[in-house]
Amino acid sequence: MFVYLDNSATTRPYDEVIDVMSKIQRENFGNPSSLHTLGVEAEKYLKNARKSLSASLGASENEVYFTSCGTESDNMALLGLCKNRRHIGKKIITTSVEHPAVLEPVKYLESIGFKIEYIGVDRNCRIDIKKLEKAITEDTVMISVMSVNNETGTIFPIDKIGALKDKFNKEHGTDILFHTDAVQAFGKIPISVNGNYSSVDLISVSSHKIHGPKGVGGLYIKKNVNIPSLVLGGGQEKNMRSGTENTAGIGGFGTAIDLAFSGFDDRLKTIEDVRSLLLTGLKDQIADIIINSPQDETACPSVLNVSFMGTRGEVLLHTLEQDGIFVSTGSACSSNKKGQSHVLSAMGLSVKEIEGAIRFSFSEFNTKAEIEYVVEKVKNAVKRFRKLGSFR
Ligand code: PLP
Repeated sequence: MFVYLDNSATTRPYDEVIDVMSKIQRENFGNPSSLHTLGVEAEKYLKNARKSLSASLGASENEVYFTSCGTESDNMALLGLCKNRRHIGKKIITTSVEHPAVLEPVKYLESIGFKIEYIGVDRNCRIDIKKLEKAITEDTVMISVMSVNNETGTIFPIDKIGALKDKFNKEHGTDILFHTDAVQAFGKIPISVNGNYSSVDLISVSSHKIHGPKGVGGLYIKKNVNIPSLVLGGGQEKNMRSGTENTAGIGGFGTAIDLAFSGFDDRLKTIEDVRSLLLTGLKDQIADIIINSPQDETACPSVLNVSFMGTRGEVLLHTLEQDGIFVSTGSACSSNKKGQSHVLSAMGLSVKEIEGAIRFSFSEFNTKAEIEYVVEKVKNAVKRFRKLGSFR
């Protein structure tokens, strides 16, 4: 059996995405800036994808920009914004469990004089909103908090943080902006800039987490928020990101958004069902495990992080691979593949709990039969290791 449970690292592209990308490469390969029909045909894909991306967020078409990945969107938001706002203040508020796509630009900003306040998390990766409220000062230029954590699936209270920011700005006459890395949330939880995300100024998303191609991202920048471009040149993407557009990639991303959002509720139901089946199966059949993901309304159904005490996650991962099961020990997108998860450390897990941690992440392609197979194989593998005792 082949069971792919590493969907937070990346997802299998929809067949329709592959088809549209191959059509664009073969037939509509014109430069979207060219004036002839080939160019106009190529430009149509960009326009349609922009419509799809903006509609999926409840934004208007001129508020969304295509980038080369979620990482670039995060960099563009953080570096661009802070570059423009040095005269306003020096403080940036973020969390200790952000993806490196946020943590690294933030470290760079620290090296050029910004002060960073990292808000810590509890045992299930939840922040204390009161601590964040206290951290907001008149010297703050930006708050950047992820929407869903990539290792645990914890949903962050973006609406509440946005409301705090708005309240502070109103009372103090400040202009603090709020960015969220929504790479793991996009297509998994409802996001609307007219609703729960109305106080968010910048939103980063990525195509390959929702069955689109790798190497394409998006950035929402609220109307009237000005950030300078980091890539200068021919003025593509309304001057925000120069460079001939990745037409096939963006066309594929647009198709992925259309498919993912047209079946949003059904997809979510499937994902919730498989996660819940796995959670129950593991809890019922394997002793001495710790569920690191939340088990209440702050849990995004796409991720389940579990520590199997007395095992090593990395060894478990390779054993499961032999049974055709693909999981992760932590964030596969991180360059620090050998290091211990900074997220699980920030949550206060012991070294042994971190060593035994496995991240299962789901998509609508997973089935009940797959999960039953996985529970059985994980049970056997854990039993074998614990019996041998060589992994303690
Ligand atoms: N932010 C989060 C929370 C992620 O999980 C990832 C990738 O896993 C990224 C950013 C980076 O996205 P991309 O791979 O498109 O650069």
